[in-house]
Order: sequence, then C-alpha cells, then structure tokens
Amino acid sequence: MNMSLPASSSGLSSYQEAFGVSSAILSELQRRGGPLPLWAAQSAKDREDWLYSLHEAVTEWDWPQQVREASAGLLDKGSHLGLADIGGTAATIMMPISTPGFLRVLLEMLGYPFVSPLSSDPQATTLLDGRRMDTAAREFERTLGMIHDTGYLDARAADVAFGGAVTTGVRFLYYHELGHVMRSAEGDTSRPSWLVPEEEYLVEELVADQFAFVMLTLELRRHPIMQPSGFAGIALALAFVAAKEFASTTYGGGRRTTKNATHRMHRLLFWAAKSAGMGVITEEAVAVGKCFWDASHGLFARVQSVPSPLFSLLLQTAMRPVQDWPTASLHILRWCAFGDRSKVVSTIRSIRDEAQRQASQHSRAEAVLKLIEFVLADTNCVRVPLGLAEALD
Ligand SMILES: [Zn+2]
Repeated sequence: MNMSLPASSSGLSSYQEAFGVSSAILSELQRRGGPLPLWAAQSAKDREDWLYSLHEAVTEWDWPQQVREASAGLLDKGSHLGLADIGGTAATIMMPISTPGFLRVLLEMLGYPFVSPLSSDPQATTLLDGRRMDTAAREFERTLGMIHDTGYLDARAADVAFGGAVTTGVRFLYYHELGHVMRSAEGDTSRPSWLVPEEEYLVEELVADQFAFVMLTLELRRHPIMQPSGFAGIALALAFVAAKEFASTTYGGGRRTTKNATHRMHRLLFWAAKSAGMGVITEEAVAVGKCFWDASHGLFARVQSVPSPLFSLLLQTAMRPVQDWPTASLHILRWCAFGDRSKVVSTIRSIRDEAQRQASQHSRAEAVLKLIEFVLADTNCVRVPLGLAEALD
C-alpha cells in the first residue's frame, strides 16, 4: 500500500534532517523493512526551503517593515497547516514540511469519485460515480482518524510532484499567514465593512483569507493558465482546514462540524464570484474550485464515524498470532517518525488506560494490554527517542 523508496544513505540523512527524526528510529524502521513514505522523500528533497524562497520573492519593498523583516521557514513537525508567530518586532511564518504532501493526499481522495467523461468504462455516463463516492468516504474516515491519532497520512500516488492545486493551495496557506503578519504590522484592528455578526468570532481568519485571496488572484491574473487550479487550490486548502477541524474538535454530544472552515469558504466563494463578475478571474476557475469544495462536502456528509486507526491496529493485531505482533511496532515506529509523535504516544496511553479498566471483564482488552507490553519491549532499542516508555510509566 505504501510506496517505498530504495533508501540510500544520503536519502536517509535528508529524511532525518527534514523530519527531525532520530537516526535510531530511522535505522530501526529500515532494519524492519518499513517503507519510507514517498511524499516524505519529495518533501525532503524540496527541503531547499521553498517557503523561505517564496517569502523572499513576494515581499515587496514598500510593505511595512515588520512584514519585510519577517522570516519564513519550514518546520519538521507541527499540527498546523501553517502558522504565523507575531511577537515583539519579529514575525515568523512557518509551515510543516508535510503540508504539501498532505494536500496531495486529500487531492487524490477528492478526485477519486470522479470518472472522466473520456473513461473507457461504457457505464461512465455521469461525472460522479456513487459507488466510488462510498469507497472514498471510507478512506476519508480513515484519513480523519489518522489526522486525529497520528498526524501522519499515507500517500498512494507514485507521482508526488507538487503541482496545480497543491501548489496554489500551499501558496494560499502561506499568503493567509502573511495576511496575519500584515494586519499586525499595520496595527489594524478594524472590522471590515462586509463582516456580518455571525462571522464576528472569525474576523482575524477572514481578513487573512481576504488578503490571501487578493494576493493569489493578483498572481493568477498574470498566469491565466494557472487559474482553474488556482481556485481549486484554495478549495483544497480549505477542505484540509475543514478536515482538521472535523477530526480534532467534538462539540456537545460528540458532534463534529466544519463550521469555521465552511464560513471561511463561503466568504472565499463570495469574493471569487465578485472577482469573476469583474473579469479578474474566469467563471470556469470559480466553478472548478466550487466543485472541489462540493466534493469534500460530499465526503463529510458520508462520514459515519471517525475511527481510531491506532485502536484498530492494536485490537486487530492483538487477535492475531504473536509472530504477527511486530507489525504493530512497525506501524507505530513509522507514525512516530513521520507523524506527530506526541499524538501517537498520548493516543496509545489513553488506549492503554481504557484497556486496563476493562481488562478484568474482557479478554480482548487483556490482549491489547499484552500487545502494548510487547511493543514496548520490541522497540526497546529506540526507547528514548520514541518516548513511549515514559508515557506509559
Ligand atoms: Zn489564520
């Protein structure tokens, strides 16, 4: 399922550098034949800090000093798609190195239910294939669970080159953060005239989005050929923001929503329609973006539950013969290496705590506990960088 790379030693060191992964975990992962994700290799290759170059390229001489002097760079980890740190005089824009790879994963998922009208399938009369939609929805549920449990996503595509919507999506996310820095540098705390009371709580996000929209539109205006993917990139970025919101926040009664992202996207669609009306971008470009957003909504609407991939891994492996148990260690090592280690570790801890409560009545809970013990012992050689042993103390 995972695309693996022939890991050369130079490949390994670029992974290590780009993802802040300890060499002990990487060597252990390799020794076990664990595949290293392809998108991660691409990201590591692009480590020549494209965010820094982008920032250098777009920052204008006549902008406020704080914006001109702001720095930008990639992070090896992080649960945000992008963030701006505005403190004192210095501002920094940061983006986790995984952001383009994750947008690429989502793009694949959104595209899957659509059948090309040029398809050789004689039944392909419509663009949207309902059966494919259900498959994509199950995959999407798992993705939401991965965002929640591990901060790691598997990309299936062999082609992980960033292009089209992924590139413009990433640029939108960057411009959004730049928008926060700009507003702070200008000391602007005004309420925009278009703001309606229901949007009041999101004012900072909406203003940053508007800045990003304008910046990206100016850029696309000079490159009409990029326009369709341009607005699709915005929709893709917002669909990922929605996925994170949905995966990480539960409201009363365990309800999940994409409320904030939806408010933001509605505003963006509104500005897009206006720009199209003025002839700044094409109607077609707006329609492609709208189609992406609707596709993501179609997936959200089909989500029945957000599973816990870590819990499934532990439960299913615990039911298998002991010689299969190293599989669990392998997945956990990979998620720790390329995902959010603190999420992985804390999820395992809560599964362990729950299993302890149930162990006396349920043999499955007892088996899960035994498996966690096994994983601890099995990964003893990377005990310190993994942080699992301390977490379970
Ligand atoms: Zn923001």
